[in-house]
Amino acid sequence: MSLTSPAPQPAQDAMPSTRGLNFYQEDRNLQFLCEALMGAAAFERARPLLAEMGAVAGGELDELAAQADKNPPTLRAFDSAGRRVDEVVFHPAYHAMERIAFSRFGLAALSHHDGVLGWPGRVPQTVKYALSYLFAQSEFGLLCPVNMTDSAARMLEHYGSPELKAAWIPRLTTTDFDQLRQGTQWMTEKTGGSDVGAATTIARKGADGVWRLWGDKWFCSNANTDVALTLARPEGAPAGTRGLAMFLVPKRLPDGAKNGWIINRLKDKFGSRSMASGEVTYEGAVAYVVGEVGNGFKQMMEMVNLSRLSNAMRAAGIMRRALLESLVHARGRAAFGSPLLALPLLRASVMEMLLDVEAAASVVFNSAAVFDRWNGGSAEDRKLFRILTPVAKCWITARARTVTSEAMNVRGGNGYIEEWVNARLVRDAYLGSIWEGATPIVALDVQRAIMREQCHEPLFAFLGARLQQVTEPAAKPWVDVVVQAVESLRRRLDGWGPSLARRPSSRPSPWPTFSITSSPRACSFTKARRSVTARRTSASSWSEPCMSSAGSSRAILTRPRSARAILAGSIRRSAGRPSRLQLSLGPAASPEPRLT
Ligand SMILES: Cc1cc2nc3c(=O)[nH]c(=O)nc-3n(C[C@H](O)[C@H](O)[C@H](O)COP(=O)(O)OP(=O)(O)OC[C@H]3O[C@@H](n4cnc5c(N)ncnc54)[C@H](O)[C@@H]3O)c2cc1C
Repeated sequence: MSLTSPAPQPAQDAMPSTRGLNFYQEDRNLQFLCEALMGAAAFERARPLLAEMGAVAGGELDELAAQADKNPPTLRAFDSAGRRVDEVVFHPAYHAMERIAFSRFGLAALSHHDGVLGWPGRVPQTVKYALSYLFAQSEFGLLCPVNMTDSAARMLEHYGSPELKAAWIPRLTTTDFDQLRQGTQWMTEKTGGSDVGAATTIARKGADGVWRLWGDKWFCSNANTDVALTLARPEGAPAGTRGLAMFLVPKRLPDGAKNGWIINRLKDKFGSRSMASGEVTYEGAVAYVVGEVGNGFKQMMEMVNLSRLSNAMRAAGIMRRALLESLVHARGRAAFGSPLLALPLLRASVMEMLLDVEAAASVVFNSAAVFDRWNGGSAEDRKLFRILTPVAKCWITARARTVTSEAMNVRGGNGYIEEWVNARLVRDAYLGSIWEGATPIVALDVQRAIMREQCHEPLFAFLGARLQQVTEPAAKPWVDVVVQAVESLRRRLDGWGPSLARRPSSRPSPWPTFSITSSPRACSFTKARRSVTARRTSASSWSEPCMSSAGSSRAILTRPRSARAILAGSIRRSAGRPSRLQLSLGPAASPEPRLT
């Protein structure tokens, strides 16, 4: 079934499902972003892979994920002779999903070797993120171990000793499932995940020159890991984050013996239930320093920053799944003699979701493209990536909670029933906002990126350049919304201190100077948007009134949502083609204002 085909008149008792759909083929927005950001050659090469992942996500993976969610892992602490083994026992569905992620699509290997998936050279980040985005639409929890294995390898590539690199990178990045070793990052203690500097885990170097760790880690995802990157304080090191070192702690020692850590129990979690998160105690675990002893926290933050983009991508993925569920349901189910999607209030709610979904995907894939450019050596893009990741993590994970809840509402009573995917999407969405830094902590990180590295400068330049590319006349008022919002942000930053104050520049301003026009079309759209968004005016900076003199446009121009749509590049020049809104929502019973 295609979302772009005309909706047949649904049967009165229809309960349509997404089962068997190809999640890539159905996603015109993803296709558009991939084509725009990957470059023609890479897009052509990626297309069959994306279509394959789309089919897997809409079929086999979806079924496995449902089984794994209903059969969460258990801890086998002791063997039959009472010896400590600390094994995590999974449902076979979880291992089948691991094979799809690590082996069939090599999601943790793509960034580390040339030739994975038959790619000539290294697979671009945009491709990796697009494949993972499709995977996330069916299985959220497993992408945590995938991402942590991937980023642990990257940490070792950057900071590991030659011995650690040789011992671990090949095994963390192989697509041979039997040879694969998985990684993780454990730093949160009972003292708190936000105040990492309060960590109490101690590292002691013995007379034999070997480091050993003592202490508790309170949240340990991928509890069955083969190797953990962790933070501990060497005896005598200063308090706070400056005294923390990063250690690699293997599960097994070189002779095959179990290392000195135990899993006390597994967490009984609200969501992400397929994957094991535990509580771990180090009891003299043998550990190896990664990088400089006094640099542990800084290195860990680098790893966390990568994980934050992955986190945002996963949230964007489940938002997209929530939207797809809503579209399929609302087009295939009827009330009062017409498809649900033709009912104006429901249609407006789905349109709101669609804007969030397109904006979130655009932020994620643009960030992945920036990551590719940074990997190619661009210093400016390193700074841009530095600020984009916490911004994306903060905003997208928050919107995911709303979008998945809305999707539950669109499905009605069935949305609340565990046989449908909606409840799982809601549960998974809530985790995104908490781990890898709860929202206020990530917001403070954005502030750090601004204060310490002036990362807002490349961000503003990036936004300005994107806005310059908007040529659609109907979009001009919306461009002004973003311009005004950024100007307002600028004014606030000027007040943060002399180092942030605008410097006179010889370069011309990148900002477009569109004037706001009140065309009849814009006005009709304005009215529609006003009715949709009136109940949702936010107190965020995006909602600052803009200085438009066009009265009829004024209200809508103060809405944050429209700014996001432009920001995300969601409106493109259509030159006579139907807009994606038209394509995605399909025909309506009553005429609706269009973006094009
Ligand atoms: C399922 C799951 C799996 C996890 N897996 C891992 C893992 O593998 N490895 C790992 O290291 N951690 C893991 N975590 C831990 C997670 O990263 C932390 O829960 C998170 O960082 C918050 O820390 P906390 O729970 O100690 O809350 P706290 O640090 O106590 O924070 C509580 C609240 O206070 C707010 N707050 C704190 N400081 C400030 C401030 N300065 N200003 C304003 N507000 C503030 C926080 O934002 C938060 O909202 C996992 C968590 C969950 C739920």
